Amino acid sequence: MAVRSDHRERVRARVEGTVQGVGFRPHVHRLAGDLGLAGWVLNDSRGVLVEVEGPPEALERFLHRVAADAPPLAVVERVTPELVEATGRAGFTIRASAPGAPEALVAADAATCPDCLAEVLDPADRRHGYPFANCTNCGPRFTIVTAVPYDRPLTTMAAFEMCAACRAEYDDPGDRRFHAQPNACPECGPRLSLPVADVARALDDGLVVALKGLGGYHLACRADHEGATAALRERKHREDKPFALMAADLDAAGELVELTAAERGLLTGRERPILIARRRRDAPVAAAVAPGSPDLGVMMPYTPLHHLLLTAAGGPLVMTSANVSDEPIAYRDGDAAERMTGIADLIVSHDRPIHIRTDDSVVRSTALGPLMVRRARGYVPGSLELPVPAREPITAYGAELKSTVCVAKGTRAWPSHHIGDLENWETLRSLREAVEHFERVFAVEPRVVAHDLHPEYLSTKEAADRDGVRHVAVQHHHAHLAACLAEHGRAGPALGVIYDGTGYGPDETVWGGELLAGGLTGFERAAHLWPVRLPGRERAIREPWRMACAWLTEIEGGEPAPLPGVDPERWSQVASLCLSATAAAPVTTSAGRLCDAVAALCGVRTEVNYEGQAAIELEALATAAVPDRRAPAPARQGDGALDGRELVADVVEGLAAGHDPATVAARFHASFASCTAAAAARAAGERSLETVVLSGGVFQNRLLLEQTAAAVRGHGLEILRPELLPPNDGGIAYGQAAVAANA
Ligand code: ZN
Ligand code: ZN
Ligand code: FE
Repeated sequence: MAVRSDHRERVRARVEGTVQGVGFRPHVHRLAGDLGLAGWVLNDSRGVLVEVEGPPEALERFLHRVAADAPPLAVVERVTPELVEATGRAGFTIRASAPGAPEALVAADAATCPDCLAEVLDPADRRHGYPFANCTNCGPRFTIVTAVPYDRPLTTMAAFEMCAACRAEYDDPGDRRFHAQPNACPECGPRLSLPVADVARALDDGLVVALKGLGGYHLACRADHEGATAALRERKHREDKPFALMAADLDAAGELVELTAAERGLLTGRERPILIARRRRDAPVAAAVAPGSPDLGVMMPYTPLHHLLLTAAGGPLVMTSANVSDEPIAYRDGDAAERMTGIADLIVSHDRPIHIRTDDSVVRSTALGPLMVRRARGYVPGSLELPVPAREPITAYGAELKSTVCVAKGTRAWPSHHIGDLENWETLRSLREAVEHFERVFAVEPRVVAHDLHPEYLSTKEAADRDGVRHVAVQHHHAHLAACLAEHGRAGPALGVIYDGTGYGPDETVWGGELLAGGLTGFERAAHLWPVRLPGRERAIREPWRMACAWLTEIEGGEPAPLPGVDPERWSQVASLCLSATAAAPVTTSAGRLCDAVAALCGVRTEVNYEGQAAIELEALATAAVPDRRAPAPARQGDGALDGRELVADVVEGLAAGHDPATVAARFHASFASCTAAAAARAAGERSLETVVLSGGVFQNRLLLEQTAAAVRGHGLEILRPELLPPNDGGIAYGQAAVAANA
């Protein structure tokens, strides 16, 4: 005779992670029903709290499946069960949220899910053609949240009252829209200011349309329309930066760029970043889309509005941030109308406010895996762990270019979305808003404020204005090193190869080609790139020929012959500036500026329209080259300096010998990578370090990253590179927080 146990137990389980606003309670409700368990579930300040009661085996299965079968947008970090007294009560209920200090995590905005898309495209569905359809598995989150807990009144959907049909979905635990806070339909939800068909017609007619989206306004036009793209480029004052494109689906994207399986995965993931990939020769895009670029930036639709528009438009669209030059993306309706007048022929808006403006994220694929270039919409506000917990809450103010901020407490850090270059008031205001918003949403009241060592950065000055807190200044390249270590859960020590454009050194010179030995608690400058003059300071960044002059002066010890295309008189002035060693030509070890110099020597360009342009084009030139069979140029490493003079001399010799500039550029990349790896291996060996970190904006150069990584591994060392955050200054704020947590 079988023994049937009627023994019942009761378990209270705390679920932590990103578990609110992602359909977690209905999931728990369904699961309890499947397993025949009684109890309840609720949202509170720390996440989700569950009590379940039933046979022990069923409870066991529940605790496993509650995490294993979690809904798509949920990130379950911990399930902590404890036994409590059984009550014998039957039934399972979803209880009202418990108030308290917010600690639960807000989810990132997610691309339209297949279920919602099917409804929008189904003529029989009540959401047919509705641009704002969403559910618990998709839709806006971060961009509409004004405060936590994540509930409709604390989002920009607060003003929309749900109709009876939407309310019924919202209240039904069995429905995909149960407690979907932005739930809406054509009856009760946000509306577009113009029918999608009319917008598509305007685009087909060659108009430039400012279109309100998820995190801000885009400027859109037909990607294959010569007139529209050229007009957009001219009106936007964006001389050379490529425009991002949106393609209807993978097939359409595949006509624009070459795609590997990994890249297809990136394009179709729920984050929907812009993917920078190799342009196809026959890509159907107008010349003005990406002049001179071997790559194109492509993304896939991520809202129903985009899906509808791309379907109606019948071809890929340019979808570039609605701004002029380097201002932040427009996101407030009145502001957008003002700023876009004269740029857009038509402004298309909707009445769901955007609370936090968020740019599209940008990812580049490499042989080592995806490389984050700009982390924003779709990824933010995802948190990162800190390897060493912060004893006190921290706010970190980041650097100056590609600015982000970061708040942290305990073991958790929240790096903000990309804010922009802190060069104008609008961007500074965005930084202030980001600090305020992140501190509120994640309940961080900082006792420590971290910032760059540079006294003149606007972010440093903002940080200095915070009273009643401890200030921690973090050297720029140390922050780069710390950010990479910390995202990998390491505290160091390691050998960091940090190559970027500019960072303030403790010796008050301009650093940027640094080999640092250290970890979160400190560092030593093990070696650096050969120092040269930065003639005319900021002007040397805009005019790479000046860096060519500086390097040649350094090599020749006197005034070098002028570069073709440069006014001999100005060349002469700059050469004497370098030789006279005045404050107008400070010393720099910048790796970015070395790449600029080589770009100018190779005839890529003498002046740039945006920072890093010459180096990007040099990489493009090198990528197109036939491989050079000569051994890489040597570079001596004496006295703690990595001697770039031989690299530059080799470039000069190669060009003088009549080698193709592309071949010379490729050889420079290979040589720079190999001597960097040799220097890193030597510095690591002297200190018994086994790990090498590659970071800094220069490592957005795919060729240099891949070749340096391979060469470092060839020395038997482990490589770490930034994966979750960009190697550029977008990762600095998190690095500052990781250092400040230890300070
Ligand atoms: Zn959905
Ligand atoms: Zn409705
Ligand atoms: Fe940097």
